[in-house]
Amino acid sequence: TTKVESLGNIVLFNPRMRDVATQQFELENEIRSAAANGQLRLVYQPKVDLNTGTTYGLEALVRWEHPTRGLLQPGMFIAIAERTGTIVDIGKWVLREACKQVLRWHEEFPGEKPLSLSVNLSPREFRRKDLVESIRMTLEETAFPPASLHFELTETALFEDFTTARRTLDALKQLGVGLDLDDFGTGYSSLKYLRELPFDSLKIDRYFVSSLDPKQKSSSELVGAILSMADVLGLDVIAEGIETESHRSTLSLLGCRFGQGYLFAKPLDPQSFRTLLVAEQDSAARSLPQDSQAL
Ligand code: C2E
Ligand code: MG
Ligand code: MG
Ligand code: MG
Repeated sequence: TTKVESLGNIVLFNPRMRDVATQQFELENEIRSAAANGQLRLVYQPKVDLNTGTTYGLEALVRWEHPTRGLLQPGMFIAIAERTGTIVDIGKWVLREACKQVLRWHEEFPGEKPLSLSVNLSPREFRRKDLVESIRMTLEETAFPPASLHFELTETALFEDFTTARRTLDALKQLGVGLDLDDFGTGYSSLKYLRELPFDSLKIDRYFVSSLDPKQKSSSELVGAILSMADVLGLDVIAEGIETESHRSTLSLLGCRFGQGYLFAKPLDPQSFRTLLVAEQDSAARSLPQDSQAL
């Protein structure tokens, strides 16, 4: 039947495959209305200064509270949303929601520097003609400070059409937002890309972080080489997937200043993230000299 053909390469067909296929069809249909039905949630993972351990920013990550399947991770639905185009609506929802939430934290926890917010942009979103205008409108509506917003893009979003990609990235920079290259080292980026595109930072993929092994010199030399290259290109570096104290100390010794990972915190729901901000505020207050008031 046409239904089976439209699945692409399925040649053999057994009941388990049918289950998987049925699930895909169901998710594909259900995700269209997930945003409108209020089923999307955001969790926030702290971005941390590796030397001081303080949270300077956060990455918004989407979850789908499915009515029957429970809380779904992006691995279950981002690719489907990307393929069907629903990612565009999801992305718009994510950006608005994250800007509104983080603005409330800016008000509640005013620091020297407001928390910076990172939002992921998928290739399909990135290629939309109205992307920049849509982001500009959201920034205007929410009054979120563009300097505190970063977009994370993977190399896949860029390599199809270099000239168009550069134009879009330049237009995003014009809005005043930051641009981070996500999952660095796993894709196709060349030095030409890094040199000619207006990125502010690159995120070392967690593959390189997880392979950091104190007994294996080459693993840290590789990360060291990425850091030197970033330095030459004037890019900040954020390490992803820091899970152990040994990862943290090795990265810190190599001169990597920023990172995120389960060692510090998993992605947190808004209440838990707020609790973390309160705790950090309290410990910062305690570390001030006792008589600083009198000065
Ligand atoms: P990503 O942007 O590279 O996000 C990092 C992923 O690594 C997140 O998975 C995060 O939970 C996970 N992670 C963080 N620290 C650790 C660690 O120490 N160890 C391990 N093993 N994993 C860690 P998550 O939330 O499942 O998201 C997966 C991917 O889905 C993201 O990868 C991103 O590409 C995509 N994604 C998530 N939210 C959005 C969104 O709102 N829009 C778009 N377009 N894509 C999103
Ligand atoms: Mg990311
Ligand atoms: Mg990443
Ligand atoms: Mg990733």
